[in-house]
Amino acid sequence: MNQHEILQRYPWDPARLGGKKPVEYFFSVELAASPYELWPHISNTTEINERLGLSAMTFTERNGITIGSNTLAGTAQEWEEVPWKWEYGRFIISERIYSRGLTSYVRGIFDMEDLEDGSTRFTGYFGFVPKGAKGRTILSLAKPIFTKNYISVLKNIESEIIAKRNPSGVASYEIRPLESVFTEREKSPRTSPMDTAKIREIYRELKTVAELDETVVKSLIQYVLTTKTANLYRMRPKELAETMSVDENTLLLTMLHATRTGLLNLTWDVICPHCQGIRERADHLWEVNKQARCEVCRIDFDASAVNAIEISFHINPYIGELKRVLYCSAEPAKKPHIRYQNELLPGEEVSFLVPFSPGRYRMRKLGQTTFILLDIRQDQPVKQLPWSGQTPASSLDAGPGSIINIHNDSDLPETYVVEEYAEDRYALRPKDLFSMQEFRDLFSRESLSTDLSIDVGVQNIVFVDIIGSTEMYQREGNSKAFSYVREYFKLSHEIARRYRGAIVKTMGDAIFLAFSSPMDAFRASVAFSTVFDGKNEKTPIRLRISLNRGSCLAVNLSNGIDYFGQTVNIVAKLQKFATADEIVLSRDFLENELVKAYLKKQNIAVPEVKAGEVAGIGDVEYALIKARYARTPVYS
Ligand SMILES: [Zn+2]
Repeated sequence: MNQHEILQRYPWDPARLGGKKPVEYFFSVELAASPYELWPHISNTTEINERLGLSAMTFTERNGITIGSNTLAGTAQEWEEVPWKWEYGRFIISERIYSRGLTSYVRGIFDMEDLEDGSTRFTGYFGFVPKGAKGRTILSLAKPIFTKNYISVLKNIESEIIAKRNPSGVASYEIRPLESVFTEREKSPRTSPMDTAKIREIYRELKTVAELDETVVKSLIQYVLTTKTANLYRMRPKELAETMSVDENTLLLTMLHATRTGLLNLTWDVICPHCQGIRERADHLWEVNKQARCEVCRIDFDASAVNAIEISFHINPYIGELKRVLYCSAEPAKKPHIRYQNELLPGEEVSFLVPFSPGRYRMRKLGQTTFILLDIRQDQPVKQLPWSGQTPASSLDAGPGSIINIHNDSDLPETYVVEEYAEDRYALRPKDLFSMQEFRDLFSRESLSTDLSIDVGVQNIVFVDIIGSTEMYQREGNSKAFSYVREYFKLSHEIARRYRGAIVKTMGDAIFLAFSSPMDAFRASVAFSTVFDGKNEKTPIRLRISLNRGSCLAVNLSNGIDYFGQTVNIVAKLQKFATADEIVLSRDFLENELVKAYLKKQNIAVPEVKAGEVAGIGDVEYALIKARYARTPVYS
């Protein structure tokens, strides 16, 4: 594609030119990587600008408009960010309207043509509308060097992609002797200096924490010392665990300890349900407000909704004042789920080929909260899907290869978005931390603000209580009975940690525990019945155990973060059906697929579901399992 052709495909709006002739940069290069391999890099303008060595930009938001500023050739510049347009793996168009600086308007176009042999024809175009003669001269002089640099950045990205390809298709994270990593870091302090002496001190401290895995501690320290500065502002444990090929829970535990020792900070980020941008960042959970707004998407949303909050980690300023470097705020790399975003002028029509990969997508217009759910399924025929007028709340099915015909029939420009609609698998949610004993131990001061209750979705709740505790106190005397109970709390705490759950609260001798996984909850219950079988010398007590599964709300009570809701009420009431050596399961728990599969595998007959009445609720359905049947294989 030559310069004439790219402008035919992505024409100028004459109003933007204002009768002037733009200064134009154009280049076209063939790269030995597919558009999909290139996309994460090309769409990450922050990465490209960092590689180009451009001056960092700062962004502020004024009346819902993002204002950027930086310096170019010694001149201060300020501009308004216009929402970018892109189609995943195909094109990106960026626009900036300047209020200060050498230009009044700049647009960039990146087009990727899939050559279908694993390579790409990459075409780039920049058009600058200069403010005056000085701007025109500087921009014209900079053209050869800028174009040359841009191509060499693309070539570097290409060779990195090729180098990373290995037979398994996964780049490996290699652990090196930590001492040499420290030495290297000390020899070449980068733009953002870090205090390596403090990191050494923290490393020594983390090594003494018994429950941490030393390899994982080393991996984390190495990552902090070697990764790009930009990565240190949003570290996501689930994603990082994949990069490092280490266990997710072990890494999360290491990062929690690293936060306690001052290497990292933890924040509660409020995420927009549409663009998935971070709208607020709170250092403490109690600072999160229920009402949130995304100016970019022009919508209000509820921060207590099930996936509205994500926890992320950052380098602690104590390690070094890393100046936050931001280059672009509207870039597609920050919104990888958005496959297509395009502004159409009144009357404009475009066709969009739906993503080929089956899955659920969402079609929405900017500023509207209604959307169309689009399921791409192999068993569906190829369809032509019209999209104009008001976007209704509805759902559609279509086969891969279908086309959406978008027509803006309104009097105003409208932005159309097609995005993947799947849970972000890398997001660490409040529920993940609330049901983690180590988090509750290390961050016992974290609590919710009094007017906020967070939907933590489906949880697995275990309730245990001592059988005949009043008689025990009478029989054994206060001091002995108390030592039994203390041992019981200590062991319960260990069981919670061992099975990746947490003690949510205690009421007298009773304990409520929460688990993310039903199997962890089940195994923990069996562990309870095994440890407290009446024959334990340190604590010869026996327990009633009940299990339930369902939605919960997290609220704040005097003793930290508590769970609330009918799921919790029912689990307590189910106790009345249990004797020692029996575990009561609610019907909802028993009918979980994982639980059913497990019972089958262990040759435990699926117990009969009974109905019984409990006070305040009415009839509940439950089943009883003899703990001794489940015991040995589960606890091992
Ligand atoms: Zn948004």
